[in-house]
Amino acid sequence: MHLAVFGSGYVGLVAGACFADVGNDVICVDIDKEKIDRLNKGKIPIYEPGLEDIVKRNVKEERLTFTTDAVNAIRQARVIIIAVGTPPDEDGSADLKHVLDVARLIGKNMKDFKIVVNKSTVPVGTADKVTTEIKKHTGVDFAVVSNPEFLKEGDALADFMKPDRVIIGTSNAEAAEVMRTLYLPFVRTGRPVIVMDEKSAELTKYAANSLLATKISFMNEMANLCDHVGADIDWIRKGIGTDTRIGPYFIFAGTGYGGSCFPKDVRAIIKTADDQKFELKILKAVEVVNEQQKVILLSKIEQYFENNLKGKTFALWGLSFKPKTDDMREAPAINMINALIERGAKINAHDPEAMEEAKRIFGPKIHLFQKRYDALEGADGLIIMTEWNQFREPDFYLIKELLKKPVIFDGRNLYQPSRMRNMGIDYYCVGRSSGRSPITKKVTIE
Ligand code: NAD
Repeated sequence: MHLAVFGSGYVGLVAGACFADVGNDVICVDIDKEKIDRLNKGKIPIYEPGLEDIVKRNVKEERLTFTTDAVNAIRQARVIIIAVGTPPDEDGSADLKHVLDVARLIGKNMKDFKIVVNKSTVPVGTADKVTTEIKKHTGVDFAVVSNPEFLKEGDALADFMKPDRVIIGTSNAEAAEVMRTLYLPFVRTGRPVIVMDEKSAELTKYAANSLLATKISFMNEMANLCDHVGADIDWIRKGIGTDTRIGPYFIFAGTGYGGSCFPKDVRAIIKTADDQKFELKILKAVEVVNEQQKVILLSKIEQYFENNLKGKTFALWGLSFKPKTDDMREAPAINMINALIERGAKINAHDPEAMEEAKRIFGPKIHLFQKRYDALEGADGLIIMTEWNQFREPDFYLIKELLKKPVIFDGRNLYQPSRMRNMGIDYYCVGRSSGRSPITKKVTIE
């Protein structure tokens, strides 16, 4: 099939490369000329494991091309996928400017039947808006499909190649069949392709992200309660995660969710409901809890240093909003760093992939270190904000040696409190203040 994918970001680039990898001819279009030039030189503008290989392979085999020439791409494609950004507007609603720009271009340039697929995360009713926009400029027939994307940054290729499900929102029978065919190579193990109406498809995406955000805020609130009553959130997690109705995923306590999706999608669905004069009370609370959670370590740090952080230097490991990505959009590390700087502290930061992004965001306000241990030298403490695998088993003797005083503030609960205690490291984490083994005495039953 001939496809055009508008937007070569996390979603568009992954979708374009994966559709090409199963044999389709894909033209990726972006308005960012620099990005397209880099892609044409074989340089991948984002860090996503495995993406470089699949892009290079499909470019070499001439199934994947990159261009800024939208008109040519529209004319050649039967299916046009919109995967442009939908950033939050000032009032929290999703800004549809880029989506409608593409719709307008399609309307102005299409000469035959097109299937216009919206993969960007958009509020209920956007398929209607896209239809209206295209119709303003053409009398040629077309179909609009809502096909929300559920990939996770860091695991994007695996998620796209083996999706849990594919959601197709359309009332057009031909479009539904073309979409089923397009996704067939990805659902061969029997994963469902669920065809529904456009509005339900649009809302499905927000419902999924909102429920995941709710799980995270719920567990973070439980963790904070654990700190108050001396219970351990790790035991609670294991205790409830084995209940098949609850499941083991998305119930790890930490310093809150960030990224380009959960925060903006929670705000956007709240706005959608507000516009209908309907209040989403649970999700409003989810957001409040999350904002507080991003700096949950701050009170522990202030208490430890007796409310005087002025002139203190902190090593901070982990800047991206989660591991295996360089994405720092709405990362809890940003809130934490800003709060510490406001209190007069200095930051020595390290991240395996997000250093460029951190340089762009903070400039000279923080010191960046390519090697994780270099950030520790002479620092007053270590703060962990992202659970990168390489932080899970560091050399604790070296950490003790490099820090002025051995103290770790761990926002991702990476280490065992008992182990830290035995090593003589002061250790503060989230919801595990007791951190004790429940049984301290060995008993033999005769
Ligand atoms: P992104 O910001 O990484 O990429 C968007 C791209 O669209 C940019 O390269 C931009 O230059 C380009 N663009 C903007 N206007 C354009 C136009 N008129 N024509 C062509 N290109 C244009 O965004 P992303 O993270 O890929 O997200 C895209 C959409 O997918 C959003 O709605 C997002 O909510 C949704 N989504 C994202 C993820 C994720 O993990 N990032 C997952 C699922 C869904």
